[in-house]
Amino acid sequence: MSAPLEITLHTPVKQLPGVRASNATALAALGVHNLGQLAAYLPMRHEAHQAETSIAEIRPGTIVTTRGEVTATRSVAGRSGKKSRFEAVLHDGTGRLDLVWFNAPYMRRTLHPGVRLSVHGDVRAFGSGIQVANPKYSILDDAKPEPIAAEARVRSVYPASEHISSNVIEEVIRATLPLALPLIDDHLLPEHRRKRELPELREAYRMIHLPETEAEAAGGRRRLAYDELLLLQLGVHMKRAHLRGTLRSPALAWSATIDQHIRARFPFALTPDQNRVLKEVTADLTKDTPTNRLIQGDVGSGKTIVALYAMLLAAASRHQAALMAPTELLAEQHFASISGMLGGSKVRVRLLTGSMSTRDRAVLLRELERGEIDLLIGTHAVISGGVKFHSLAVAVIDEQHRFGVHQRAALRSKGDATVGKAGIGVPPTEPETAGSISEPPHGPHPHAAPLTPHVLVMTATPIPRTLALTLFGDLDVSTIRTLPPGRKPVRTRVLTPDRTDLVYQFVRRRIDAGDQVYIVVPTIDSDALLASSTGVETSIASVESVMARLTSPGGALSGVRVAAMHGRLTQEERDATMRDFRDGRIRALVATTVIEVGVDVPTANVMVIEQAERFGLSQLHQLRGRVGRGRKQSVCLLIGDAVTEVAGQRLAVMRRVNDGFVLAERDFEIRGPGEVFGLRQSGVAPFKVADLMNDRDLLQLATRDAAAWIARSPALARPDESLVRRRLFKAHGPWIGIGDVG
Ligand code: ADP
Ligand code: MG
Repeated sequence: MSAPLEITLHTPVKQLPGVRASNATALAALGVHNLGQLAAYLPMRHEAHQAETSIAEIRPGTIVTTRGEVTATRSVAGRSGKKSRFEAVLHDGTGRLDLVWFNAPYMRRTLHPGVRLSVHGDVRAFGSGIQVANPKYSILDDAKPEPIAAEARVRSVYPASEHISSNVIEEVIRATLPLALPLIDDHLLPEHRRKRELPELREAYRMIHLPETEAEAAGGRRRLAYDELLLLQLGVHMKRAHLRGTLRSPALAWSATIDQHIRARFPFALTPDQNRVLKEVTADLTKDTPTNRLIQGDVGSGKTIVALYAMLLAAASRHQAALMAPTELLAEQHFASISGMLGGSKVRVRLLTGSMSTRDRAVLLRELERGEIDLLIGTHAVISGGVKFHSLAVAVIDEQHRFGVHQRAALRSKGDATVGKAGIGVPPTEPETAGSISEPPHGPHPHAAPLTPHVLVMTATPIPRTLALTLFGDLDVSTIRTLPPGRKPVRTRVLTPDRTDLVYQFVRRRIDAGDQVYIVVPTIDSDALLASSTGVETSIASVESVMARLTSPGGALSGVRVAAMHGRLTQEERDATMRDFRDGRIRALVATTVIEVGVDVPTANVMVIEQAERFGLSQLHQLRGRVGRGRKQSVCLLIGDAVTEVAGQRLAVMRRVNDGFVLAERDFEIRGPGEVFGLRQSGVAPFKVADLMNDRDLLQLATRDAAAWIARSPALARPDESLVRRRLFKAHGPWIGIGDVG
């Protein structure tokens, strides 16, 4: 006899007692190589199975599990619109049960007389007998007798492959899990578990794999989901503590005088919400802890002015500020409105975009590095190589949802370029005298500490609270909820494509009455054909085709000045068109989503979106935000086909809901977090167990617990924390980027 194998969680599955080599191979193909991985191979769901009954005991109208032998089969071809079916008769010695599968001709190859089956399904009376339609079934193998389930039980359903079924995986786990459980150590202390009513970790694994009841399965799952969320939140809070502990930003000066100087530049009084957010932002910027704040507010809620205030605070302290916008058009608009407000002041504002000439760019970069520019506004050109600031103190990223976390990091790193060079880090002297917001910068300071700019990110795609916690857990959040005074909510209607003519008759009347119109379509070019889910070929509406349709003689807008607007026009063409539209020389724009962010034309108060089902909720909401900026009641007409249920839901939601926050929540519910926010690109590992939709409460608990834990022990360096620490870095080390701490 060989010495008994010492089993650890690293023991290969093939060496575990009672596991067949073929099953070990099949499991390896699923990524399960050792005992630990086997224990971590979790069921995707659970099924409650009733106790098995004999066929004689079955009552119609119940869900049953029973077994027997197939005594006859028959295939019936579908004809004249009826489904084909495959029938089998099952006998168990006590009675007869008819089984039928619809549209499943392949069943003929699986079931033959003599095959023994376990079946599960909904039984109904059928003629004088009883029948189950489309039952779940498994073929019983005489070599491996499966005991009759005398009692109801919960079965785990595992992700399977063609080489190994869920049933077999369940068997392997049933046989080997007892070896693994004693080896699983808990990273939570007993008090912690007690407080949150969580089972011990090894018990949680037992509960999720081999539950006695459905409640047990749920309880095991809850513990594992909590752990996933807790580890992520520990990572988020640890990173944040690390940033705050090691990085410094310039503490900006604030005084009533500075405040007055800045506000004197604004053409309107701020709303209470804007003032509240300003207070939050100012509190951040006047500290030397790096600010990392998300400012969220619906389209048109007035976020730009908050950003400008922050940027001018930087200038008042003789530092620089940068504003990064997702499109050239938007960068230009920011530049135009900000330059307008600062006209006649000493603040030097410049625009940096990708389409600048090499020479202009070189001049600008030199001025920037010398500190001769106070505010830099631009596209992502702002974070490209070669852009060096003299002393960047505030970096604002507009429309955060269009930038990835990488860009956020890149902009933050722009501050590092100033390390040891800039005058930042020097406590601002005599803030009262720094009242003018445009003094020239100081010369280099020899003892400057490593510095990073304060970062503000702005988004009009409100981030559902749950997701904000997860994705942007390292950000503080400020919210502008109310719109500036005098806005009327846009009225939205959804119309089917057969009413397109009516829509444009309405548009024509509005244009004749002096209004201006945006018409948004999905693409630029001549229509691409595609097959919709209904199997009917449709074409994608394009700027070209819609322009042609509307402006041709006899078209709904013939004789009206209509222009095209899309990303393939040159900057000059787009600018010229926008100027003409703003000044009323053009009455309607046929555009792609390039108008989604940016341009502000108060006299445009009608929007038509063709094939609206092709746009996401957040996108539709952004587009709709282009109208409703003036005094007159605006309308948004969505022409759309509910080709899928989801598309239908989206359009219905758009009609009812005007609040971007509510829409974001709905978008999240309908499409899931991955699609809405590019969760995958964010670098956050997707969860195996936790489900952001259904585990929101758990996420909140985990967030609270993680924050408190890191507050107590920022590096998780105590001996009884070594396990949680190890598991944290294993799960999130690369993302947190501080795997080497401690
Ligand atoms: P967003 O939050 O979508 O970026 P903007 O900052 O572009 O919104 O503001 C939308 C419009 O509202 C702009 O024309 C801006 O000048 C105007 N606005 C912002 N704040 C106020 C206010 N407090 N009172 C009046 N108009 C305002
Ligand atoms: Mg904006």
